[in-house]
Amino acid sequence: MLDILEKKWPEILDFFKKEYDIQDITFETFILPLNVKSYKNGLVQLVFTGNSGNSGLQYINKRYFDFLKISISIILGEDIDLQILLPGDSALDEDIEETKPVSSIDSEDIILDKRISESHLDKKYTFDSFVVGNNAVAQATSLAVADAPGEVHNPLFIYGGVGLGKTHLMQSIGNFVLKADPKAKVLYTTTESFTNEVIDLLGRQKKNQDEIIEFRNKYRNVDVLLIDDIQFISGKERTQEEIFNIFNELFLKHKQIVFTSDRKPNEIEDIADRLTTRFQQGITVDIQSPDYETRMAILKNHALSQGIKVTDDRDDFENNNILEALDYIASNFVTNVRELEGSLNNVIAFSKINRVPITKEFAIDTLKVDNSEEKITCQTIINTVAEHCQISPADICSKKRSQDIAFARQICMYLCRVYTDEKLETIAKYLKKKNHATISYGYNEIKKAMENDASIKATIDILKKKLNPK
Ligand code: ADP
Ligand code: MG
Repeated sequence: MLDILEKKWPEILDFFKKEYDIQDITFETFILPLNVKSYKNGLVQLVFTGNSGNSGLQYINKRYFDFLKISISIILGEDIDLQILLPGDSALDEDIEETKPVSSIDSEDIILDKRISESHLDKKYTFDSFVVGNNAVAQATSLAVADAPGEVHNPLFIYGGVGLGKTHLMQSIGNFVLKADPKAKVLYTTTESFTNEVIDLLGRQKKNQDEIIEFRNKYRNVDVLLIDDIQFISGKERTQEEIFNIFNELFLKHKQIVFTSDRKPNEIEDIADRLTTRFQQGITVDIQSPDYETRMAILKNHALSQGIKVTDDRDDFENNNILEALDYIASNFVTNVRELEGSLNNVIAFSKINRVPITKEFAIDTLKVDNSEEKITCQTIINTVAEHCQISPADICSKKRSQDIAFARQICMYLCRVYTDEKLETIAKYLKKKNHATISYGYNEIKKAMENDASIKATIDILKKKLNPK
């Protein structure tokens, strides 16, 4: 029996890897170190010889046990039971899996859930739910970091456009580490909330030393620190100083630090050079807009998470209709995964409400209706003006005073007042202005200029058309 299993082992591994779409790095870390030990009375015993020892074993049991069991059963053509042991384990009771009290598994899950929420993570963001597609480098690097925190790439700096999965990947690292190592401490924070903490604590007239120490310890006593959207650190000196100190301490202790940003480290303005250098010290990976195949895969996954299974079967009429609808969405929402998923959500929701099957025509109708009702936001205005004036949105929202940037900024002030119901304070926040009177001033300047200068009026008219083509 054992020799049959040994002979078929490569085939089993191959099947397992393909069937469950296991990434190379995961496969090498957790699956290849599994050796066949015995096969008797329908029970297969494997030994895990990987470096991660017991924590690796726990992880395999939790995540891959069923997949392995099914793969072995299918290739052997026989329903088997499975046990995975560590090298030192003596022959174990054959029914150890069964005798394991269910409640202990439950309580393991409860403990993990608690650790996830204490780490400020969302458990839906995992490597499993991330469609790799054309982001193999970002994904594999993140997984490598998760697999050996503090050891391979420190810090990891992930950058890329809005809605492309930066937060998803970053949180996947956190969730992976928590699951793999029951003792690991992970902390996720956004730069915005970190900044608020700094302002709150260090900006007070009467500083409470205990609170300050508590704040610093919170970030220094972790194994993995995840700081999202670090570009918002720009211009915030105290926050930069805190991050710099935390970084140094964690780095020296070989603790992992991960940043995300909407731009490269050297493109973040108004930050101390010593921080830029730190950000570039480990590895920098970019995350790209998904290509068509990736978008389709993301949509199929997302549909599945909503209870709609889509296969590639074009002969199945209903399935083909859904495929065409997904194809329409994948072809029209190309740059932002959040929008891609949002569009599919709308189509699914409307089809449920109206009890109409999902087809391409239905998707076109739904998304058209939805687009025309889309509100123009300050962000859309800033992006549109930036694109039109060939300036980056970041420059518009910066302190830069060159004439063209200041002018584009005033146009934004004008259009935000005309097109949105936002308060002056909110518009000021978008444009990184401290004083909301600046917004009124900018609005009046453009209004006057439009009356006196036809070319400015023409520019504004074009921008209005771009914003609202109807
Ligand atoms: P970012 O932080 O880059 O702005 P997010 O990580 O918040 O983007 O991603 C936006 C949404 O798109 C999330 O719901 C995320 O789960 C989803 N998403 C992004 N990229 C992928 C991907 N490659 N596979 C699956 N879901 C993705
Ligand atoms: Mg994000």
